[in-house]
Amino acid sequence: MHWTYKTSRSGKIEELNVHRIALQDKVLILGGGVAGCAAAIALARKGRSVTLIEREPTSRHKVCGEFLSGEALEDLHALGIGVASLGAVPIDYVRLAAASRAAEAPLPFPAASLTRKALDTALIAEAMAAGVRVERGRSVQALDRTTSDGWRATLDDGATREASTVFLATGKHDLRGYTRPEDPERWVAFKMYFRLAPAQAAELARASELMLYPGGYGGIQPVEGGMANLCCVVQKRHLARVGYRWENFLAKMQQDCPHLAMRLAGAEPLLDKPIAITHIPYGYIRRTTENGLYCIGDQAAVIPSFTGDGISIALHTARGAAAAYLAAEPAPLFQAKLRSALLAQMRLAEFAADGLNNSLSRAVLPFCLRVWPGVISVTARLTRIAQHAAVAPHAVAS
Ligand SMILES: Cc1cc2nc3c(=O)[nH]c(=O)nc-3n(C[C@H](O)[C@H](O)[C@H](O)COP(=O)(O)OP(=O)(O)OC[C@H]3O[C@@H](n4cnc5c(N)ncnc54)[C@H](O)[C@@H]3O)c2cc1C
Repeated sequence: MHWTYKTSRSGKIEELNVHRIALQDKVLILGGGVAGCAAAIALARKGRSVTLIEREPTSRHKVCGEFLSGEALEDLHALGIGVASLGAVPIDYVRLAAASRAAEAPLPFPAASLTRKALDTALIAEAMAAGVRVERGRSVQALDRTTSDGWRATLDDGATREASTVFLATGKHDLRGYTRPEDPERWVAFKMYFRLAPAQAAELARASELMLYPGGYGGIQPVEGGMANLCCVVQKRHLARVGYRWENFLAKMQQDCPHLAMRLAGAEPLLDKPIAITHIPYGYIRRTTENGLYCIGDQAAVIPSFTGDGISIALHTARGAAAAYLAAEPAPLFQAKLRSALLAQMRLAEFAADGLNNSLSRAVLPFCLRVWPGVISVTARLTRIAQHAAVAPHAVAS
């Protein structure tokens, strides 16, 4: 502890804990993905002293469908990220394929796709430009309370960082003591880039295709650099049936969904092996938190991937949490308001995900959609986050 002294009006010498005062305006952001960077930029632009800790030394490929919804595009634009200049591909319509049928509908909002590597690189650069102190290649191992209004993060080399306020933005990775619930379906997700045969690339242009198969679903869409991103999820018990091997799973998906087999005919895989993650607690929305700890992004809520809305939620929760902090709204109040704002969208997305993952739907959905493509548009709209949902206080202190 550091101490200093001042003389009060009565002439009495008072001790002040400057260490504590110094902490008061400091914000520590754990995780430099979408949510962490967005919150960091918002706070630094309001003059706050922000330190962001990101475990990867440079941005890497992440498991993600890389679809950017209209809301995400708006939020990114407001942060100063021009996705078009980064090479984002406009996406105008969505195609649903199951068994041997496919149906398509225009998207009811503007959308685009951009690799996470490009997006995360741009976000970190913007955070640094905004004055955020970014520590990369440092992993947070533990987060503890020091006093009733202070936090200490311990890094992998034992060094510590202290602040009065922490934004937890570690995405899919849970910190010890702050774990999210088990994922009962034991989802496994994969991402692989392909260079499609020219005719297939032309067919896929400006479309996001959702493919259904037993035990999960997958999406394929073009991204910058002439690549196509195949991102898919499957329940572990279905993966067990193909010996947990990517090659077998890829072959099974194509067997169950000939549309995918057609897309991948003559395609060249662009990564040595797919990137994979496990433990995805779909449907989770954080109920509570402690004073001074704002949970954002996947640490706040995990929406089923087929909606392509996780990035938008990450940006939205970051924006809301930053505004709440600036207006001195306590973190537990913010987290409770966020939960109520997200609940309906989340339940609807879960309901739709259950529907996609059932054999009857797989058989009839594409047929129904040919008759009523509006269903896609309506589902796409309803599973979006309400952009102006009141999670943040109106008055934002500067
Ligand atoms: C299969 C799948 C497909 C998806 N497809 C889409 C899609 O098409 N469109 C869409 O909008 N959303 C999609 N999502 C969701 C989206 O990827 C996430 O919701 C979004 O990335 C959440 O952002 P975040 O900032 O919370 O986490 P992230 O972007 O994952 O960032 C977390 C960061 O924290 C860092 N970190 C983790 N632990 C530590 C630690 N201990 N110390 C320091 N740093 C740490 C990580 O390195 C990472 O950079 C998909 C998700 C899945 C699983």
